[in-house]
Amino acid sequence: MTITVVYDNNPYKEGLKAAWGFSCLITGTEKTILFDTGGDGSLLLNNMKKLAIEPNTVDIVVLSHIHGDHTGGLNSFLEKNSDVTVYLPESFPQKFKDNVKDHRAKIVDVNQSSKICEDVYSTGQLGVWIKEQSLIIRTNRGLVIITNCAHPGIVKIVDVSKDLMKDDILLPAPVVPAQVTQAQVVMGGFHLEWATTSKIEKIISAFKQMGVRYVGPCHCTGERARALFEKHFGRNYIKVGAGKVITMKDLP
Ligand SMILES: [Zn+2]
Ligand SMILES: [Zn+2]
Repeated sequence: MTITVVYDNNPYKEGLKAAWGFSCLITGTEKTILFDTGGDGSLLLNNMKKLAIEPNTVDIVVLSHIHGDHTGGLNSFLEKNSDVTVYLPESFPQKFKDNVKDHRAKIVDVNQSSKICEDVYSTGQLGVWIKEQSLIIRTNRGLVIITNCAHPGIVKIVDVSKDLMKDDILLPAPVVPAQVTQAQVVMGGFHLEWATTSKIEKIISAFKQMGVRYVGPCHCTGERARALFEKHFGRNYIKVGAGKVITMKDLP
C-alpha cells in the first residue's frame, strides 16, 4: 500500500506546487482511491501529471468534508475521469451531489462507518457542525488513519477508528487482533493551527497511549504542532508535503 500526497500546503518534492488544501492517492489496495481533491483543479491535475498519476487509474474518490480546500479540485478531476464512485458525507448539500451526478459519476452517501473496498474503511461522518469522514486502511503493519482537517477532533477520530476496527476483527478476520487494532500511522491535517502548546502536548500523549507509532501531520496541523510532533516522535515522524510518497515497508 502506498500513499502519494498530491496536494498539500507544505512543499516537499521539487517541481510540485504547494497550496492550501489536501489530496492524496492510495494505491496498492483493491481499488485506487483519491482522498480529497485539494482546492484548485488545475493545480491538482498539474501535480498529478508531475507525479505520473493518470486520472483514469482512479476508481474511487473519497471526500472528507465540504470545505473548498478539499473539494475544489473535484470538477476538474471529473472532467478527466468521471468513471468513478464518489464517497461523500451524506450531509453534503443536494446541489453538490447533483453536480457530481451531472458529471455521470456514481455517488455513495456515507453516514455510518462503512467498508469502501478490501481493507479500506470510512469512519462514517463524524462531528457536529462540520461533518467529516476519515479513512482507515488495514495493512499487515496495523491501521493507517488519514484525516483531513480533523474537524471532529483528531483524538476522537483515532479513537473511533480503533474501536471500529476492533469490532470488525470479530468478523472472520484471519490475524492478530492486538497488532492490527493498533493505529500505526496517523497522517493528514490535524487542525491544530491555533492550538496552544499544552493542548498539542496533550494530544501527543493521547496518541502515544493509543499506540500510534508514526505520525505524518500536514495541511492544517500548523508549524508549531508539526515541530512538537517531530520532537516527540523522532524518527517515527513522517515529513509530509506535496509529492511525498509513503510506503509501509519504508517505515523504520
Ligand atoms: Zn482543510
Ligand atoms: Zn476544513
